[in-house]
Amino acid sequence: MNKSQSFNALIDLVQLDTSIQAQQENIDRLFVQEQQLEKQKQMLEKALSELKNAVLIAKEQVDAVELDMQVLDEQEKGKKKYIDGLTDYKEYKSLQAEIEHLHEDQRKQEQMVIDAWNVFEFAENKYVQQLPVIQEKIEKTVKDLEKCKQDQELIKEQINQQKQQRPTKEALVPKDWMEKYILMQSRVKNPVVSIELNSCAACFYHLTSTDLQSAKKGSLIQCKNCFRLLYLDQIT
Ligand SMILES: [Zn+2]
Repeated sequence: MNKSQSFNALIDLVQLDTSIQAQQENIDRLFVQEQQLEKQKQMLEKALSELKNAVLIAKEQVDAVELDMQVLDEQEKGKKKYIDGLTDYKEYKSLQAEIEHLHEDQRKQEQMVIDAWNVFEFAENKYVQQLPVIQEKIEKTVKDLEKCKQDQELIKEQINQQKQQRPTKEALVPKDWMEKYILMQSRVKNPVVSIELNSCAACFYHLTSTDLQSAKKGSLIQCKNCFRLLYLDQIT
């Protein structure tokens, strides 16, 4: 295998690795998105359940104050029945005062019943209005979540396919180049870059004429500044 073929093999491998890396970054980004959507879904469900709960609590309050009202009505009825049979004036007066006091309680209780119904109606209206809006949002979030998961699976599949190609491509790269490449790969994202305008394309460090000569002869050289592997695009 000549130098040109070796270079092509290395570039080919670098491109594959870059692509795998980009796909992996896509998955990471989608995973973050998935978590955000999951959180959003939970928040919407919580909002809905809180609205529903407010209606239930308001209804319970209505039932409670109405029950108190019934108790007062029963008391009033009982006392009125009893007062009719009374002959003792003092006793009559005292019971009449009690009944008046009860009437006062009933008026207050009536207002409480009205207030409780108002709260209930307000809560119910709010729930009825918000229900379709929130449900629609939840449905959309669920769809987005499914898409997000599917996309991740798809990319994982693509990465697997690319990884399967890797050993064949790696076998074509000279061993000493491979060692340098692996070493640089552990340090930087783009370990192999081209030489452009006699400089390293990553850090723009100007190459020495000796290095340029070597590169032109087809050697793999390293940037003296950033240590990336450098190659000339056209090697004859
Ligand atoms: Zn450099």
